Amino acid sequence: MPAKKIIRPAARELLFGNLWEYDPAPESAPAFIEPRYGLFINGKFVPPKTKKTFDSISPRDEAKLSEIALAGPADVDAAYQAAAAAFPAWSKLPGTERAKYLFRIARLLQDRAREFAVAETLDGGKPIKESRDFDVPMAAAHFFYHAGWADKLGYVTPGRTLEPLGVIGQVIPWNFPLLMLAWKIAPALATGNTVVIKPAETTSITALKFASILQDAGLPPGVVNIVTGAGETGAAVVNHPLAAKIAFTGSTQVGKAIQRALAGTGKRLALELGGKAANIVFEDAPLDQAVEGIINGIFFNQGHVCCAGSRLLVQESIAEKILTKLKTRLKSLRTGDPLDKNTDVGAINSKAQLARITELVESGVAEGAEIHQSSCPLPEKGFYFPPTLFSNVSQSHRIAREEIFGPVLSILTFRTPEEAVEKANNTHYGLSAGVWTDKGSRILKMSAELKAGVVWANSFNKFDPTSPFGGFKESGFGREGGKQGLLDYARLE
Ligand code: NAD
Repeated sequence: MPAKKIIRPAARELLFGNLWEYDPAPESAPAFIEPRYGLFINGKFVPPKTKKTFDSISPRDEAKLSEIALAGPADVDAAYQAAAAAFPAWSKLPGTERAKYLFRIARLLQDRAREFAVAETLDGGKPIKESRDFDVPMAAAHFFYHAGWADKLGYVTPGRTLEPLGVIGQVIPWNFPLLMLAWKIAPALATGNTVVIKPAETTSITALKFASILQDAGLPPGVVNIVTGAGETGAAVVNHPLAAKIAFTGSTQVGKAIQRALAGTGKRLALELGGKAANIVFEDAPLDQAVEGIINGIFFNQGHVCCAGSRLLVQESIAEKILTKLKTRLKSLRTGDPLDKNTDVGAINSKAQLARITELVESGVAEGAEIHQSSCPLPEKGFYFPPTLFSNVSQSHRIAREEIFGPVLSILTFRTPEEAVEKANNTHYGLSAGVWTDKGSRILKMSAELKAGVVWANSFNKFDPTSPFGGFKESGFGREGGKQGLLDYARLE
């Protein structure tokens, strides 16, 4: 039929070709990034005692964004002294008053959402559609949620009261800079603690912009202090004697070093570390929905996600079908300028991370897995890696065992549910997992047997401030979000 002749080539172009040319659609809002930032201590920006700075560059095009103060031990000490001085008044403030500050912070973040989204994308490399629709709204949601709890702490565990711990030292990674800050600061403040926080060295900008929100909200000086720098600054935060608790999100390697350093100090510790999540697809699953979940599970935020579904376990009977669908879907992913509203996969956060991803992908090829990569042209400047699938992966391959933290999916197969559970749990990590099936009973059984802090059913990467998040095994301990997250920032009396 003539109609078919017209439709079929167009469908083929959509599925297989680079025949759809998009005009660039860059986000135009200004990010208002200062040329240099000091440390935020006791309610104001101060120069570092080290007199040293480091450059923050954009992974999008390697352009310098700002000069960031490098905090040394004396600066970290000043931040802790400010937080300790602010603690008595802040912790005694009625919950209704603390809630007002948290609500104000949440609303101010919403007011400046567009500006923060652009700054986050420039600094970290994530697509603007993600920082605009996920990172910034979720950060505000965490402040709203915890504002709601601040005057209801007596209801968290009926009959007991929640008492604050004191000054909390917090160290966060670069993959969700503003959101991780919100996950850490909101529950700490709601429960009456004060904070010294260190963002990651490649993504300090939204934390420093957030300081201006704290000023605008009128938060008492010293309640939140922001120190910037790399691992040595982080170690000074972790080892400071005034810290009542350390909350760390980052790599398992650094998490283990922190746990060793804190042993015997009496400080409380929460570790949110790496992951190598299994995303398990059964033959009775809604396959097209599963394919979207697999794509989102691994390519969201360039795969810089601790709970990324980086190990796909597919039932053998549908393995070919799923691989074909994934290869087709790979062709329609647009990798490129993260500021472009049409971009699906943005820039890799840093040159060092790009080198780590490249090395692991090369190991996958050398160990005999079959590679399938997107052919979308990559920008000439900046740090980019094509979305990548590996089939014929075996459990012993490095790409099946090590966290790649990039847009790389390893595909393995299984025959029975028991084999799926065994393979999924065959990892040092235990942060998250996904199960795709039509059978409710199978979802319940699998969820109980999977050793993972979060199990998503027929979905992936769903987050909500009411829902606790955290890991088992080498993915760490402690929970963030929900009532469990509040309890981690308090003593029960
Ligand atoms: P990283 O451990 O190198 O750095 C994380 C933070 O720790 C940074 O701020 C860094 O400056 C600081 N740091 C480095 N060395 C330190 C030390 N010796 N003492 C104290 N602080 C130190 O990790 P990364 O590469 O920035 O982040 C990626 C890792 O984070 C991945 O493994 C990922 O899975 C994990 N992560 C986990 C979660 C979670 O919730 N479980 C969330 C996001 C990221």
